[in-house]
Amino acid sequence: ESITVGELAQQMAVKSADVVKMLFKMGVMATVNQPLDQDTAILIAEEMGHKYLIVNDNLLEDTMMEVTYSGEVGPRAPVVTVMGHVDHGKTSLLDFIRKSRVTAGESGGITQHIGAYHVESARGMITFLDTPGHAAFTAMRARGAKATDVIILVVAADDGVMPQTIEAVTHARAAGVPIVVAINKMDKESADPERVINELSQHGVIQESWGGDTQFIQVSAHSGLGIDELLEAVSLQAELLELRAHHTGPGKGVVIESSLDKGRGAVATVLVQSGLLKRGDVILAGSFYGRVRALLDETGKPADQAGPSIPVEVLGLNGTPNAGDEFVVAENERAARDVANLRYSRTKGAIHSLQQAAKLDALFANMDGSERKVLNVVLKADVRGSLEAITGSLLKLGNDEVKVNIVSSGVGAISESDSNLAISAHAVVFGFNVRATGNAREVIERGGLDLRYYNVIYDLIDDVRAALNGMLSPEL
Ligand code: GDP
Repeated sequence: ESITVGELAQQMAVKSADVVKMLFKMGVMATVNQPLDQDTAILIAEEMGHKYLIVNDNLLEDTMMEVTYSGEVGPRAPVVTVMGHVDHGKTSLLDFIRKSRVTAGESGGITQHIGAYHVESARGMITFLDTPGHAAFTAMRARGAKATDVIILVVAADDGVMPQTIEAVTHARAAGVPIVVAINKMDKESADPERVINELSQHGVIQESWGGDTQFIQVSAHSGLGIDELLEAVSLQAELLELRAHHTGPGKGVVIESSLDKGRGAVATVLVQSGLLKRGDVILAGSFYGRVRALLDETGKPADQAGPSIPVEVLGLNGTPNAGDEFVVAENERAARDVANLRYSRTKGAIHSLQQAAKLDALFANMDGSERKVLNVVLKADVRGSLEAITGSLLKLGNDEVKVNIVSSGVGAISESDSNLAISAHAVVFGFNVRATGNAREVIERGGLDLRYYNVIYDLIDDVRAALNGMLSPEL
């Protein structure tokens, strides 16, 4: 029912700072992320000479769905994503935990990955999203889905902190998700855990005995050393979060992955986040809907229902929703179909408005609550030297009113993960002597982000300066 200052500004195509100023004149101190009630929002719109139409899509959809998502509230298990540099052992760790903890079904054990699984630990249940790699995590975030409560950051003890380790830390921070560090490959002769602890501390990830708030656990995904302690650390971290959810009532949650199966049709792995998802329910997921023909747990066994933090495979949708799409149980098939169709027809408009919003000069946001506007930048370059030169120059461009915030920078091609981070940060993406990968391009285009390539540092700096001056010439 509410709209944030930033969203309202975006709707009116004015700068957030102007809305903040207007609110200030009306005696309201507000930041860009502050939600406004309807009356205030209408007042602002009128004051700024805009027409308004109260169309709350969610409200409309909820009305159409005729479902109240409520029930008994109780604690729920944490959902964990494993991140880290390539070859540091993410897959091995996930595999080890899955094989040693998930009780094998009668149908011959676990032969398939369904993208998520849950295990019992000494301190209770933990759900793992079995999709290592940062792309899955950021893709979900880019859709506004919050599916992860705790991140296990895997760092190989014989290799130390590497670029994707730092990237994972950046993602975790941006999402506000706590990290538990797993120092992996401790079975190796060359293991040097102290080095990992030292290097991570330089990136602000500091162990508890040094006054930080991050747990570091030494493990081996091969021998199983430390895995119990790791699970315990995750549970401890989760307890601090006091995670709760409805345990009864209609189910809803998030799509983890989906695919089209020759024999079974659309198959979606979903994570229930609230309520109960039951076989026979009509569900709506993204722009698709259907009656749940079967639910399969992570061992491939049929299930009648799934509750909070439980991942299940769903059969019966009429298409494959995107990872990160919300799913909800609907009152009936007609309601689900109507909303699915409504969403489908809205997609075009939504993409258009995203594109408008993300254009370079719309990227300013009053981030720190001050009057200073921030241009978020994701920067990739071919060599470290250029990267440092550009970063240095960009940071110098700021003044009292505007500044550049480098959300992420690195050497190498613009990856899908870079693009997703840029979407969640509303950042502009710069490639200096590097280009975006095919997947990254796709993400960038879908998100309507501004992607620019340069091979002369001064050109890049000049464009940013011009952008900061709010007078960047339109793209050719
Ligand atoms: P990912 O890219 O992070 O998913 O890493 P993988 O799980 O694929 O592991 C990369 C390599 O490291 C593989 O050859 C694994 O067998 C090896 N590896 C992973 N964990 C351990 C470990 O704890 N000890 C040792 N010695 N090797 C490991």
